[in-house]
Amino acid sequence: MTRTVYVNGSYLPEDQATVSIFDRGFLMADGVYEVTSVLDGKLIDFEGHAIRLERSMAALDMTSPITSEALADMFRELVRLNDIDQGMIYLQITRGNPGDRSFVFPDASLPATIVAFTQNIPNLADAPAAKTGFKVISVPDMRWGRVDIKTTQLLYPSMAKMMAKKAGVDDSWFVADDGGITEGTSNNAYIVKGNRIITRQLSTDILHGITRASVLRFAAEAQFEVEERPFTVAEAQAADEAFSTAASIFVMPVVEVDGKPVGKGTPGPVAARLREIYLDEMRKTAI
Ligand code: PLP
Repeated sequence: MTRTVYVNGSYLPEDQATVSIFDRGFLMADGVYEVTSVLDGKLIDFEGHAIRLERSMAALDMTSPITSEALADMFRELVRLNDIDQGMIYLQITRGNPGDRSFVFPDASLPATIVAFTQNIPNLADAPAAKTGFKVISVPDMRWGRVDIKTTQLLYPSMAKMMAKKAGVDDSWFVADDGGITEGTSNNAYIVKGNRIITRQLSTDILHGITRASVLRFAAEAQFEVEERPFTVAEAQAADEAFSTAASIFVMPVVEVDGKPVGKGTPGPVAARLREIYLDEMRKTAI
């Protein structure tokens, strides 16, 4: 089955979908994106992603080209056309094609470029990695200073993923100048000590994860203590458990940091419970 993708109002076979070489997304990484999961053919945590998309565009002085209702309709249509039961929808909105290259933003009346496509992942909820957990290394956080904006400028996270791959592990966790872990290449980072879940506080240093917000809410409802502060690599290595969250991995246990096991070096009960609660609750509210 050929994948059907969305480009600027049209649903097209993927090999017929094109964007200009002058598009500012291509020339300047002048674009924002969202990844939304699909379970049982429905959108997970859609409202959170739609709100963050608006926030990212506002932070970059981009005019929003699509309402959240139209976005939900478009996502659902892509899910239907591609017969997705479990998977993801990638959405990217760029400042558009001004027909030339300039550092100056084009006039706000220039139409944005909107593209979206699905990824079919039949075992997303039942991912084998959730049973073994991620191993991570720490690397300096050398990203720009506004990583709270979800831009398509992902070169350093991509390099950090390659550092992890070369080290034979699954991901990198970024360490800021203050010695605290900020987050993973494409996920938020947590440790667990007793009944307490510790994760860095919201600021311009981390992406304000939509999964993070939901998981922390469910954690508090399940009587866990939530402490939002930086934690170090040494603290992570001495923790009972660690985990990461993102729309693409939900709650993923982290079993090793810089070659040292976290807790018993196997996925722990808190991460497993939070993953279960998250999936149950999200399935209830999926649209
Ligand atoms: N942090 C970074 C740097 C990310 O790229 C992502 C997701 O792509 C996340 C955190 C998790 O965000 P969300 O839970 O909204 O997927």
